[in-house]
Amino acid sequence: MEINKNQLISETAKLGNEIHNGLSLDRVGREYSSFLAMNSIIANLTGRCLDHNLVFQNQPEMPRYIKKDYDKSMLNFYNKILREFPLYKEISSNMLKAYLDSGIEDYMLGGCIRGYSEKDAKEILLSYFSEYGHKAYQTAKRMIEEERIQMGYQYENSPSMAFHTGSVLLQTGYICMQQDKYDSSTLSFLAHELGHAIDKEVFYYPQQKKIKVYDDPFNEIPSTFFELGMLSYLQEQGIDPNGALMLQSFYLNIMYARQYHLLDTFVDIEKTGRIEMTEDFRNWFLYGMGYYVSLAMNELSRENPREYFRKFTDMACARNEANFRELLEIAGIDSESFVNGDFIKNKLNGEVIQLKKRYGYKE
Ligand SMILES: [Zn+2]
Repeated sequence: MEINKNQLISETAKLGNEIHNGLSLDRVGREYSSFLAMNSIIANLTGRCLDHNLVFQNQPEMPRYIKKDYDKSMLNFYNKILREFPLYKEISSNMLKAYLDSGIEDYMLGGCIRGYSEKDAKEILLSYFSEYGHKAYQTAKRMIEEERIQMGYQYENSPSMAFHTGSVLLQTGYICMQQDKYDSSTLSFLAHELGHAIDKEVFYYPQQKKIKVYDDPFNEIPSTFFELGMLSYLQEQGIDPNGALMLQSFYLNIMYARQYHLLDTFVDIEKTGRIEMTEDFRNWFLYGMGYYVSLAMNELSRENPREYFRKFTDMACARNEANFRELLEIAGIDSESFVNGDFIKNKLNGEVIQLKKRYGYKE
């Protein structure tokens, strides 16, 4: 898949014009980072880009405004976590204990994951998203058909293997991925980024005043939900049962590592009463807690994804107002067993049994 460059350039120019002519910083300020991200995709794909200076000529206050807005968002993010940190600490430490008891770390497996043609990859993605009903399906379909996805996207100092960027004004966006081959791992990454697209286009853009992306400690729940769901789907449909199971246990291990760092930081906060505002901590929380909640949501959704999408919607809309326990309950998760670690204990034990069976491990 490749991005339609003409479309990207004309949409970025439209965004640039809007910023150039926009009167209120508050209104156009949020589009600034979208413009920069899209312009750097243009530069990467074509070797040229639009003129930043021209765009910001009318907005001399913009850089200061952006900096202030970023600082405010970081502060909001940390305050939200601090408010409930004893609960998060309890969750992390119970999760880590269940993990070590399960012995799943013995199953860091190598092995084969299945590859696909581009046509098959698109078909699998669409039939997967159609499970969740009209809105999820339409967004994924539009991203694919309107050529908004770039595979084999190479860039230096890459912050991640894949990203989604979009704009409130355009009500849509773009996805870039480093991988250029289609396999089960790429499909789960694509499902993650398409999950961001669904989150933005279905919930965030229409109610932009209520949720701010950068403030949101739960921004990675919708994306990881669809990512883990893809791995379940590949197993259930018999498309790549072994590869997807292996990737799933890989994710569980990564999740463990993030929770480990999280707990460390929580213990630190308790000692010093202060929180170190770093991007690392932000990522540990976003992905550590995000994957963990998604794991529980995915489990609940597989029986009837279309019906579960309603709970997913309620969760996505409530995440700015609800406290963490409420949010879990809104998503249909039993908050008690999530917090005390029973949920993950059962999950990991089941996973170990499956891995032993599949790979013939003996005690
Ligand atoms: Zn993400």
